[in-house]
Amino acid sequence: MKIRQLFAIMLACSPLVALPSPGDTDLLGYDSQGAGAQGDWEQKFQEGISADNIRENMRRLSARPHNVGSPYDKDNAEWILAKFKSWGFDAKIETFQVLFPTPKTRVLELLKPTRFRASLQEPALAADPTSGQTAEQLPTYNAYSADGDVTARLVYVNYGSREDYDQLDRLGISVKGAIVIARYGAGWRGIKPKVAAEHGAIGCIIYSDPAGDGYAQGDTYPVGGWRSKQGVQRGSVMDTDYPGDPLTPGVGATADAKRLSLAEAKTITKIPVLPISSADALPLLAAIGGRIAPESWRGAMPVTYHVGPGPALVHLEVASHWDVKPIYDVIATLHGAEDADQWVIRGNHHDAWVNGAEDPISGQAEMLEEARVLGALHAAGWTPKRTVIYCAWDGEEPGLLGSVEWVETHVGELQKHAVSYLNSDSNGRGFLYAGGTQDLGVLVSEVARGIQDPETKLSVYERARLAGIADAKSADERADLRKRKDLEIDALGDGSDFTAFQDFAGISTLNLEFGGEEAGTQYHSIYDSFYWYTHFADTNFAYGRALAQVAGTTMLRLADAAFIPVDYAPQAEAITKYEDELESLLKQKQDEYTERDLELREGVFAATVDPRKPLIAPPVEPVPPFIDFAPLKNAVSDLQKSASRYSKALTAYRAKGSPPLTPSAATKLNADLLVVSRKFLNATGLPERPWFKNQIYAPGAYTGYGAKPIAAVREYMDQRLWLKAEAQVPQVAHAVENAAVSIDQCAQDLEAALPP
Ligand SMILES: [Zn+2]
Repeated sequence: MKIRQLFAIMLACSPLVALPSPGDTDLLGYDSQGAGAQGDWEQKFQEGISADNIRENMRRLSARPHNVGSPYDKDNAEWILAKFKSWGFDAKIETFQVLFPTPKTRVLELLKPTRFRASLQEPALAADPTSGQTAEQLPTYNAYSADGDVTARLVYVNYGSREDYDQLDRLGISVKGAIVIARYGAGWRGIKPKVAAEHGAIGCIIYSDPAGDGYAQGDTYPVGGWRSKQGVQRGSVMDTDYPGDPLTPGVGATADAKRLSLAEAKTITKIPVLPISSADALPLLAAIGGRIAPESWRGAMPVTYHVGPGPALVHLEVASHWDVKPIYDVIATLHGAEDADQWVIRGNHHDAWVNGAEDPISGQAEMLEEARVLGALHAAGWTPKRTVIYCAWDGEEPGLLGSVEWVETHVGELQKHAVSYLNSDSNGRGFLYAGGTQDLGVLVSEVARGIQDPETKLSVYERARLAGIADAKSADERADLRKRKDLEIDALGDGSDFTAFQDFAGISTLNLEFGGEEAGTQYHSIYDSFYWYTHFADTNFAYGRALAQVAGTTMLRLADAAFIPVDYAPQAEAITKYEDELESLLKQKQDEYTERDLELREGVFAATVDPRKPLIAPPVEPVPPFIDFAPLKNAVSDLQKSASRYSKALTAYRAKGSPPLTPSAATKLNADLLVVSRKFLNATGLPERPWFKNQIYAPGAYTGYGAKPIAAVREYMDQRLWLKAEAQVPQVAHAVENAAVSIDQCAQDLEAALPP
């Protein structure tokens, strides 16, 4: 998986990274300007990062297919382990045993009105030397699809979201007993078979429409970098109940762990699913008749899009080998000199669907370069104050397996010791994107001010700030962005290895990536190769170097700051916004359903529908009742007060010249700062998804990838279960209140620590 697509979607609707004018530096109590020892080490670190090393790391790690269970996956893990050891890290491999299905049978054929058998293959290309490694390539498939052999009429369902099925209802088309064909895009691919099965479909085909990432976007591979007609996106279709190994929810998949049976595993799909290329999709779509698809449903295929059902009759057969396979997490530690029991954690996965030059090796290759230079600093006399842990995860692609199982295994220690988790997954060319928990927003903004964009020579911070203004949709939004003194950090849901840290363990999280200016994508295809990456993405690894500088410098500051470099003001502001959004959503739905009811009674609908293109009237929705958000508003108000008190204490500390704290004061402050983010957890988790403990940050159950902040309330509102939504307000308020009390304690600690 990777979350670039999420970012692309979010960038289209809201500015991701909103930054202010440069100016404020040194906000969090360390010397970042090169005058003192800390600045010297940072400068040495940044100068030490080599784009050529990142290129050579990528060449080695992407040389052969390295999916979970393959020989080269293990070979890469051992190579990474040896590298960490050679750089002076205390490194080891932790192994877990996870369910990893691989294809046994894949058949897709059109039986009527014409006959066609899908190739289900990506051909080797002479230009791309690794594309011919067919013996080691996983075939095109969706992992964790149920086994099945079905024959039925075909229905086109656009992206296959819940809203698309509402539209089908209005067209009077049911998918009950049908096979659906959906295009990739608009959220987590696992939502498509989930929603299809909920509506009674018996099979699901997912294809890559050229409108999304093919010839409608630019020249296709190998002339350009975009997906060719033969390109296929592999990927997991795991359901959204919990990530990680389907057989061991909530506990580490160690050799002797208690396991569910396959039948008990809730995250395997209910119906068979198969991904196909646009070339394989063309005869299928051309054979669908019935109603013309709504305008927004039409992609860039050379057909008139019809919805069906039929007359296309399709046979789909999918079966997997349901094997348990080992995964290899490489865990590498530099022990802290003073506060060794405070852990600053960094991670990126190493497994891929095939060669995975971009996903994940563009991230892994640069993370290793960070570690190499940290090792060199260590050899030159630097030792981190806190303990630094670098993690190369296995099994991210099937379902965040390596990171989830590791966090589940070590959750007790992590909750005692973890300061933060910094993730990357893939890297490209363009703008800096930062997501995560906003308590780290000021820190990463300060770092980004000091790193130069390799092509424009602006700081990566300034470039992202101006891009945010360019993308803003209203004058108000632009005004807000111009006022900000830091990057606007967008909340994350799931979609990469930060998920277990943030959503399950309550650890402050950042995810960093450059992107937006690559000349195409080969996401989860055999063509995501070294050849492709070095011709169409970050071709000279200049942005790989920039990401290593941003991420590594952030790690240095987290590791060495006198006290943990967080500032809660941006987080309180974000949570205030999430609470406001709940209230606006309620108001919007009240207005919408009131208006709809009126129009139905007035006859507006009946008068305006074209009698020759009948549409079923939208259903009358009861107008939502008012919800009592008061407990949450009170808690958010307390959070703002505490956060602002802590920010004021930070300002006072700086005004006194950032003096050293007494050891006892520093110990008390760090101990209290360390646990603040844990307070957002609730032991029982979200009402329908108990694995997700975080009451602020979680993915949507029907969207995936992106965050649905305050999901306990919001998810029920989206399902129009208003009373259930209201019943969740007090427990979210309780978590926010706990965080407010905890931050207030930190403010008191810092005030008390200041010299008179
Ligand atoms: Zn990835």
